[in-house]
Amino acid sequence: MSRRIKEPAIDEIRTKKLGIPELLVQADCGDDYIYCAFPKTNRIPPCPRCGNFETTVHLVRTRVLRDILPDVQEPLRFIELHITYRSYQCSKCKNVFTPNYEFALPKARLTRRFEDFLVRESISRSLSGVSEMTNSAISPAAVKISIDRWEQEKAASQPPLYVGDTLCLMAYQNSRTLGLSVLTVDNGNIYLADVLSETGSESIRTLLRKLELGKVRQVITDLTESVWEVLAERLPNIVRLIDPGSYYGLVQEQLYESAKQETHWLSMKDKMDVIMTPRKKILATQQYTLRQILKQRPKLAKIYDASDGLYEILSTGWSTQRLTQWAESIQKEGPELLIPIAQNLLDHATNIRHYELAGLPAMKFSSVSEQLTYYNMQLRPCSFALEKVRLLYLNASDTVQLEDGSIRRLGVPIEKVLDTLKELKNEQERIYEP
Ligand SMILES: [Zn+2]
Repeated sequence: MSRRIKEPAIDEIRTKKLGIPELLVQADCGDDYIYCAFPKTNRIPPCPRCGNFETTVHLVRTRVLRDILPDVQEPLRFIELHITYRSYQCSKCKNVFTPNYEFALPKARLTRRFEDFLVRESISRSLSGVSEMTNSAISPAAVKISIDRWEQEKAASQPPLYVGDTLCLMAYQNSRTLGLSVLTVDNGNIYLADVLSETGSESIRTLLRKLELGKVRQVITDLTESVWEVLAERLPNIVRLIDPGSYYGLVQEQLYESAKQETHWLSMKDKMDVIMTPRKKILATQQYTLRQILKQRPKLAKIYDASDGLYEILSTGWSTQRLTQWAESIQKEGPELLIPIAQNLLDHATNIRHYELAGLPAMKFSSVSEQLTYYNMQLRPCSFALEKVRLLYLNASDTVQLEDGSIRRLGVPIEKVLDTLKELKNEQERIYEP
C-alpha cells in the first residue's frame, strides 16, 4: 500500500550536488554550508518485526551530520546536513522503528563518505593535518575517534584472510612494547595481513581465528615465545622456520646496548651510526672514526667483529652450516655477551635448516620487521604509525584466485605499506623542518 505524504519543495540542483540517492534537498533553506534534506518517502520499509507494510508516521525528528560534497572544490566541500526524518509505527504489532539509511550509521554524527574521507587522508597525514583539511570542523581527537570506530566496524565485517601455504609472524619494536606483524606469502610476494600492537598469547589467538589457515604448511617466525606457544597449541603439526636474520637483529641489539655503555663519552649520534653499520657498508671517510673507537674499546671491538662476521655470512651465500660454525666459535671464544644468542641459534638449527631448505633469502622477513620498527621509532607519536598500517590493511587488499575458482582476500603488498610509511616520514620532515 502506498501513501502520499506532503513533502516540501525540492531544490533539484542542490540535491544533485549532494549526490546521496536516499536524500532530497529542501528548497529555500540553509546557506552554502547547510543542506536541509529529507529521505525519499517512496521507500517506507515494512515493519522489521512482523513484516507488515501498513505503518503510520510516529514522530518527525531532525538530525545533524557532517558531510563532504563529492564534486565540490574547497572551501565549500564541508557541509552540515540537517535531515528531517520519520520514525514509523506498525499498525499491527505497534512496533516503532526508524528506517536504516545507507549514507550513515544509526546515531552517527558523520556520513559514511565523510568517515571514509577522514580515514583515507589520515593514512598519509597526521591527525591535526586531517583536522586542518576539514577547516577544523572536526578536531584531531574527533578524527581519531571516528577512525577508531571505522576500524572496528571494518575489522568486524571483514571476511577471513586467505593465508596460502606460508604464514609469517614477526615481532617489531613498538614504542615500549613489541608489536607483531602478520605477513602472508603467496607466489613469492609478501603481503601484510595485519599488525598487532602487542605480542600477548590472547591477541595472537584472536588473530589466528581471523585467518583462513586451512592450507598453511609452514610458519616463519622469530623467537617471540608467545608466538611459539600459541602456534604449538593451534597448529601443532606445522613446520616452523626461523629467518636467521632474527639472530642478526639480536646481535645488533646487544651491540647497540654495549656501544651505548662503552661510548657514552661519545656524544655524537653519527659515531653510533658508524658502530651499528656493517663494515662492508661503511664509507671510506667513516673508517677512520670506527678504527679509533674500536681501538680504545676492545670489548666493543669483539662484539662488532662478531656482528660483522654474522652479517658477512647472511649477506653472502648463507647456510645453516656456516651459521652453526659462527655460533660455535662464539661459544668457544666469546664475546661473552653473545653466548646466549649463539646457544639459542644452535638450539634452533633445525628451524633454520627448514628455512634454508625452503630456499628463502636470509633477512628477508626479519628486514620487514626491522623497517616497521624503524618507522615506528622515527614517526612522530601523533601520527600513529601502527594504526596507519592497520588502516591501509583494512582499506585495500589484494586478492588471489584459487584453483577452485574462488577469490580470496590477501592483504596489502608489503612494498605499498613501506612506501606509505616512507612518504609519511618525508611529509613529517617537510612539515616540522624549521
Ligand atoms: Zn509489526
